[in-house]
Amino acid sequence: MCRLLDGWMSELLLFYLQLHVTHRSPMMRPNNQASKHRSSHDTEREFGGTLGALCIPIFLPLTVLFLICMSRSPEASVFQWPPLLPSSDELWDPLAPLLLLGWIALHALLYLMPLGKVSEGLVLRDGTRLKYPINGFHGLCVSGVLLMLFLGLGAPLGHLFELLLPLAVSAVAMSFLLSVYLYIRSFWEPSHALALGGNTGNPLYDFFIGRELNPRIGDFDLKYFCELRPGLIGWVVINLGMLMKEVELRGSPSLAMLLVNSFQLLYVSDALWNEEAVLTTMDIVHDGFGFMLVFGDLCWVPFTYGLQAAFLVVHPQTLSWFKAAVIIALNGIGYYIFRKSNSQKNQFRRDPTHPSVARLETIATATGKRLLVSGWWGLVRHPNYLGDLLMALAWSLPCGFSHLLPYFYVIYFTVLLIHREDRDERQCRTKYGLAWDTYCHRVPYRIFPYIY
Ligand code: NDP
Repeated sequence: MCRLLDGWMSELLLFYLQLHVTHRSPMMRPNNQASKHRSSHDTEREFGGTLGALCIPIFLPLTVLFLICMSRSPEASVFQWPPLLPSSDELWDPLAPLLLLGWIALHALLYLMPLGKVSEGLVLRDGTRLKYPINGFHGLCVSGVLLMLFLGLGAPLGHLFELLLPLAVSAVAMSFLLSVYLYIRSFWEPSHALALGGNTGNPLYDFFIGRELNPRIGDFDLKYFCELRPGLIGWVVINLGMLMKEVELRGSPSLAMLLVNSFQLLYVSDALWNEEAVLTTMDIVHDGFGFMLVFGDLCWVPFTYGLQAAFLVVHPQTLSWFKAAVIIALNGIGYYIFRKSNSQKNQFRRDPTHPSVARLETIATATGKRLLVSGWWGLVRHPNYLGDLLMALAWSLPCGFSHLLPYFYVIYFTVLLIHREDRDERQCRTKYGLAWDTYCHRVPYRIFPYIY
């Protein structure tokens, strides 16, 4: 019972950590007239307020280390009690912080290169718009070329397997250091530069949730930089390291490992290819840059989203071509739904007269915006979540059914997206009123057709 409770507690906190899961009053939306002029000390606290801000920065880094340890232990059991504790030798390696700093410096350099176009973000409270380089995909390609070069020169990339824990420890340390820097520097910023939700006056909470909205050093935007680059690209590099470790151990990569690597590389490439879309997300538009986002970007994503690859190094799986084909088909279907539905809505929001969306059936709303009721958005109310979840399942299936651990991501992500969907529904109902109810009547299922 106690173990179950522990499992549930961790699930709950993980669920709450997710950068996007927040309960905010509609009064806090950035495009709300009133909020434009507010420098708020009266905002609703999220993530359990001060208690959450105290517990989450302790609990979640420990969870990351715990999951990595478990994925490499023969038992790989999340319910093992007492949990396996790593020795200090396993936790620390002076190479890890050097590699991490080098990696971040490389991406900072690539960020500053005059590659790709420059886009403007949404209008800020002071009426200005910030400029952002759209060159994350270039960063991914250059990283790929450099890695191939290093591999060609005989660099032991498989050593990342041994370095995983020290790297995660370094990423935790870096998250704390960067968050402290961000917290301190925010006191020199004008009030309009602060996030509405991160300026409560409670140091613990503000440190956690983030005070400054768009911290920049010159033109270098720290939040935008961390959002998709070092962590997301780092995730696929770690995966490649696990693949190389498998090659060292068994002579060639397994089919399961190749699938996990390819699927997750596709996902990361897609995110970076569509990098511009991040400029309208809640993370960029609304959330301050504090420990919550820093840790999520630099530690949580790279070290927990790819646990399957680390698991496969120690728990090899044989996969028949038939099973592999089914899993590839599942990932393909998921990706197709995810990409098509996201692109359809983005296109519709950018230009509803575009030939690809002009013929879709829509409902008018009092705000002047219309809602799609046919096409992907007529299938379920969040087809993009459906696609994302199908892909998440396809990432775990190559690991077989003997352990729960490789299913961590899909379980966590299901809870996350169900909650996120519910929150989005509430916001849409507030925004669109009766029109939203009509939409729900026309499209009764939220994520899974005929199920939910
Ligand atoms: P969505 O792209 O789902 O956007 C929701 C918004 O779309 C609504 O607020 C509404 O905004 C608009 N909308 C809803 N229904 C309609 C309709 N019928 N017609 C037109 N517009 C509509 O938001 P998310 O940011 O949650 O998701 C984006 C992607 O990111 C998803 O694919 C998701 O799976 C993925 N994701 C991945 C995460 C990860 O960690 N891997 C975490 C979170 C998300 P409005 O009307 O104002 O335009």
